[in-house]
Amino acid sequence: MTDILIGNGAVVTLGNDNRPIEQGAVLVHNDRIAVLGPDADLRQQHPDAQYVDANGGLIMPGFLCAHTHFYGAFARGMAIPGDPPRNFSEILERLWWRLDKLLTLEDTRASAEMCMADAIRHGTTCVVDHHASPNAIEGSLDVIAGAVEQAGIRACLAYEVSDRDGGSVTANGIIENERFIHSLGTARRQQAAAGMIAASYGLHASFALSPATLERCAAGGAAAGVGFHIHVAEDISDENDSIGQYAMRVADRLAANHILGPHSIAAHCVHVNSGEIGHLAETHTHSVHNPRSNMNNAVGRAPVEEMARAGVNVGLGNDGFSMNMLQEMKTAYLLHKLALADPRAMPGDLVLKMAFQHNARVMQSVFSPFSADFPQLGALSIGAAADLVLLDYLPPTPLSSDNFPWHLIFGIDGQHVNSTMVAGRWLMRNRQLLTVDEARIHARARELSQALWQRM
Ligand SMILES: [Zn+2]
Repeated sequence: MTDILIGNGAVVTLGNDNRPIEQGAVLVHNDRIAVLGPDADLRQQHPDAQYVDANGGLIMPGFLCAHTHFYGAFARGMAIPGDPPRNFSEILERLWWRLDKLLTLEDTRASAEMCMADAIRHGTTCVVDHHASPNAIEGSLDVIAGAVEQAGIRACLAYEVSDRDGGSVTANGIIENERFIHSLGTARRQQAAAGMIAASYGLHASFALSPATLERCAAGGAAAGVGFHIHVAEDISDENDSIGQYAMRVADRLAANHILGPHSIAAHCVHVNSGEIGHLAETHTHSVHNPRSNMNNAVGRAPVEEMARAGVNVGLGNDGFSMNMLQEMKTAYLLHKLALADPRAMPGDLVLKMAFQHNARVMQSVFSPFSADFPQLGALSIGAAADLVLLDYLPPTPLSSDNFPWHLIFGIDGQHVNSTMVAGRWLMRNRQLLTVDEARIHARARELSQALWQRM
């Protein structure tokens, strides 16, 4: 592969030695970043590289999403019949658990494809998905993996095991996770080793998992050498259920059942108390904050700063909202200030850390069981992944490494992303998607979603 030299832009490296290089350039060699520096120097040193002009815009790492649900794509624009749901349990029962039961494998494929196009368009280069389709479980993760591989982004997949639909659905969910994890060492070995696809063991949430199921999954995950991806204390009802049935809070119950650990993701953690935060920190479990979803479901404000202070790695996800992670960052920045009536809450640099540094740690821990040489994400540095985006953003005020978070929050948005590269390969150039046919994907999704809405 010819080296690619991307220059004539402001390189925002992020990472440990975060420094913007004005009039900078990045040399991409295969799937990694080989060199960074001033544009003029690199052009002289690498005359044979293919030169790509960033037109004075920004060159920065791709966005990362540490918790999502591709299967939710067909809910866009859907009206729930009857009175609006009054609480989280009603939202699950009347929307999500009705929708997921109707999904066929074709719907799952079309939903994933919609999310792929959305991700590439918004410069999101690595995502962690959590799938549910209780009446079409077998092979569902292969279907999603097919869509991911076609698109060319990185993704970690999981099937959510849940007891909510009876014993055979529970068993099929377990089989699907274990079958897919196994396939990453066999049929999909090459892609997995290259750090393009990974898996974690999906679990729905404490309230939907019996002691026997938790025990079975803990053993399965340990045998497969992977961590778990589970919703934790998203709503207060999850805590009430665990305390009522097991006299333990949710994260304490999961700790006691060996679900927490350095490869595990606890999504949400809205209602965790200091004891549970201690368990998350001690076990090096990752937490993932999803502010748009939390606001939409009115479940509460996650104690993100408390978790971060206690040493928990808190990443950022979208929980099925659009793949525009800049919107998620802006929401995170605003939510905590309003909820705490304190403008000092959730500083911009913490938002930036969650979105890049912390999310990169989540990705490292879920991909590393399958990819021994998984590259650094969320930063542009020598040897890091060539996962980057070009933005048509000409800063109207001075831009430095210190003030960059506030450019992201107040100035930059998804529409500025004009090119997306993953593992050294362009997935979008000048707003043209190169690996997927967006018009076909949207036409197919419109057809299938309409049919699904009618079945609902
Ligand atoms: Zn979720």
